[in-house]
Amino acid sequence: MPILNADLHCHSVVSDGTLTPEELAARAAANGVELWALTDHDEIGGQHRAAAAASAQGMKYLTGTEVSVTFAGETVHIVGLGIDPDDASIRAGLAQTRGGRDARAREIAAQLAAVGIKDAYEGALRYVGNPELVSRTHFARFLVETGVCKDTNEVFRKYLVEGRPGFVPHRWASLKNAVEWITQASGVAVLAHPARYRFSANEEFALFSEFRAHGGRGVEVVTGSHTPAEYLKYADTAREFGLAASRGSDFHSPGESHTDLGKLPYLPGELTPVWDLLADRIQ
Ligand code: AMP
Ligand code: MN
Ligand code: MN
Ligand code: MN
Repeated sequence: MPILNADLHCHSVVSDGTLTPEELAARAAANGVELWALTDHDEIGGQHRAAAAASAQGMKYLTGTEVSVTFAGETVHIVGLGIDPDDASIRAGLAQTRGGRDARAREIAAQLAAVGIKDAYEGALRYVGNPELVSRTHFARFLVETGVCKDTNEVFRKYLVEGRPGFVPHRWASLKNAVEWITQASGVAVLAHPARYRFSANEEFALFSEFRAHGGRGVEVVTGSHTPAEYLKYADTAREFGLAASRGSDFHSPGESHTDLGKLPYLPGELTPVWDLLADRIQ
């Protein structure tokens, strides 16, 4: 079933999006999405609401999350699709992954204070829907609201990234643990937006090889984070590593995200879509 308007990557107020699971479901359905997944960062707290909202909107649903991983010194994201949201092991793993965020947020705020930006911790918290999930996105919204930057793109050039004020190195989950949590919870692990990582060709080869060896089975090919040239590049990578292909907007917010739910090009026809591996997990 390759020609399907599937959107298998987006964020709600349960992580760093600005819409509720119900608002996202309505927006996805209005945009023609047929198969949807909510993939909040390191969280599955919105899954039961999202599944119910998808059903109310007449869409098929796959459960999801996006796990933060540290690999070769970089943050890499692994999307888990079709996971059992009541599985104890993934719930514990995600809780542990979320665990360091509050202390990190306080350190981010201390760095911003040192360059004259006061009260950023309290400021970021005003945007947080889930106290366990304060993210750089919430700081970015605060920096835009207070006029320090004109938009979140400017924030992620001038602040919160390596070499800039407000960057706090952080140790997330291991690639092995993230893939195993997802797989053991009956899901499929998908390497998210591979073009976003600043890896050499050798490091990228190692990432795909290790991901595959740990049991990873999919890669995002068509995503809001890729250019059309990158769709083609990662379609080749999917074939090279025997991975199924996924499609997802990575939508966060109407004002911020340039790719809306369900509005990406379809997957290249010759690839195996990741939902073919998940037929028994679709609700
Ligand atoms: P965190 O998990 O707290 O490190 O925050 C990561 C989130 O920040 C990502 O999921 C994006 O939502 C956002 N982000 C990171 N880099 C950028 C960027 N260059 N432009 C816009 N948002 C970004
Ligand atoms: Mn995000
Ligand atoms: Mn991501
Ligand atoms: Mn995402």
